[in-house]
Amino acid sequence: MRLKIVRKTSLLILLVLSYVLYYVPLTFTEPQHSICLGRLALIIVVDGAEISIVNGLEEFNLLKNYGIYFSNAYTVLPSATTPAHTALAYGTYPNVSGVVYTYAVDREEYHVTKENIPKTVSWYDQIMSESIVEVARENGVLTALIVGKEKLKVMMGLNQVADVLKILPSELAYGVYDPNIPIEARYRQDEWIINETISVIRSWSELIRSGEYALVIVNLPALDWTGHACGPESEEYYLVARHAFQQVLSLVDIIKAEGLWNNTLMFVLADHGMSDTKPSKMLLPSKDKHHWGVLTGIRHYLIDTGGTAAFIYLKDKRDLEKAVKLILKSNLADAIYSISPINSVNGTLEDVGLNSPFAGDIFVSLKNGYQFSYPNEGAHGGVSTQKIFMFMLGGVISSKLTYSNEIVSIVDVAPTICEFLGLPIPESFKGKTLNYFFAPKVSLKVSISPSVIELTDSYAESIILVNGSVEVPSKLYIYVDEEEIKSSDISGEFSETVSIKVEEGEHTVLVKILSDGKVIGGATSKIFAVKIRYLPLPWNLIYASIVIGVLISLIPLVLLIINMKRKKL
Ligand SMILES: [Zn+2]
Repeated sequence: MRLKIVRKTSLLILLVLSYVLYYVPLTFTEPQHSICLGRLALIIVVDGAEISIVNGLEEFNLLKNYGIYFSNAYTVLPSATTPAHTALAYGTYPNVSGVVYTYAVDREEYHVTKENIPKTVSWYDQIMSESIVEVARENGVLTALIVGKEKLKVMMGLNQVADVLKILPSELAYGVYDPNIPIEARYRQDEWIINETISVIRSWSELIRSGEYALVIVNLPALDWTGHACGPESEEYYLVARHAFQQVLSLVDIIKAEGLWNNTLMFVLADHGMSDTKPSKMLLPSKDKHHWGVLTGIRHYLIDTGGTAAFIYLKDKRDLEKAVKLILKSNLADAIYSISPINSVNGTLEDVGLNSPFAGDIFVSLKNGYQFSYPNEGAHGGVSTQKIFMFMLGGVISSKLTYSNEIVSIVDVAPTICEFLGLPIPESFKGKTLNYFFAPKVSLKVSISPSVIELTDSYAESIILVNGSVEVPSKLYIYVDEEEIKSSDISGEFSETVSIKVEEGEHTVLVKILSDGKVIGGATSKIFAVKIRYLPLPWNLIYASIVIGVLISLIPLVLLIINMKRKKL
């Protein structure tokens, strides 16, 4: 009985040993399946670009070759940098985003507090809704913010996070309101921004080509500063504007050179215009920039929003009608909006999307030439600088469209980009999507069978199956390792198969659909062709283990013989 067990155990050891020695496991990488080709969404804001001046520039008009020009685009009120960039990034008006200006006052708190001077609320503390940067990050889209002003961090939302954040160094922004700084110093500001943008796009271009989505928001600050310092009709303003649009054109060339243009959607627009103001027509020349002589006898606090407009916070809200009457009597306002309806004004704050808890009881926009508290040659904030220019450019836009006179808003940019990047559009985004300008819709599925193949000869065969649908007649191209293996005309629902032969190694299958010469869809997939190599058998070890095994199994037999001999003796 014991003998049997010992023998069986020895045999088992031998078997396991030879099994382990014979089959050495092979290693190969796990296959990756269908990665969609990437997309790049870009927003370029030319800060303070006055449409009536810049639309005469050759460089401005050259941009019309790359997509659609909207001749009826508007920004929000106040037409100032912080609320306009917030509207842009939050896809909504100040009554939803909360943000009315760089700093503001909590209107209701001011009504009830005993203090005469209200405490001010920063842009960050006014935020009430979600920004596109947050939506993009939550959905795995790369995000970058490259801006000329610190306060534009408002575009990142409450989280204040982006993959890349670049702000113009303060030494380059030195003396921007001085009309005498050299024009080259102004050029350098926008050049710094564009160079940083180019380096971000170059560092991400490989990722975008292989399927990543990216959102890059850029603010060119120089023109706004030049406008305030020198006026929109100055030679300096003209030169800086021309330089800014040259920079935008060079960025288009870089995107094309990186091979990203066909998958790019690029908005180029102003945040607000710039009106010609006279330092002699400054209404608050005294040290107290927050109280307006026109409202003598009414306790109030004024916040200048860009020069040509202001919020007026009333200490006692029952003074509303009296205050409006005094403003009308002054004959200085070209528009007045009030917290509640009054017959003599242009409308309520709600009518213009301005009913945020941080807006004043009254919003006043001044007549041409007037400004509140800065002796500037140019300013903005009111209704006269609400009209802006807007371009929607990129290879994804149908080449048949070049111009639209439809009324569009700065709040339409974010929802349109969400649609383009496949992001969910938050309910707080009140703008409309301009998606009907996109190239035709396409859906695509690529499967490869088998995707990991064992080579029997010097090559192996696999079948690529592509199916999906396109809205318009298109051309389907299939490449393996950048070599075209099939192209065919498709429309509507389609299904294509192609059998390929590949040599050992990793291969990329690239499928592209072109309409009108533009890529409207694409996908990549990988095939792995592997040769299974068995290691040469370690005969020495096998012999050794056989001998050891035999010897071990002999031990009980020898013991048995010895025992029997002893018994005989
Ligand atoms: Zn601005």
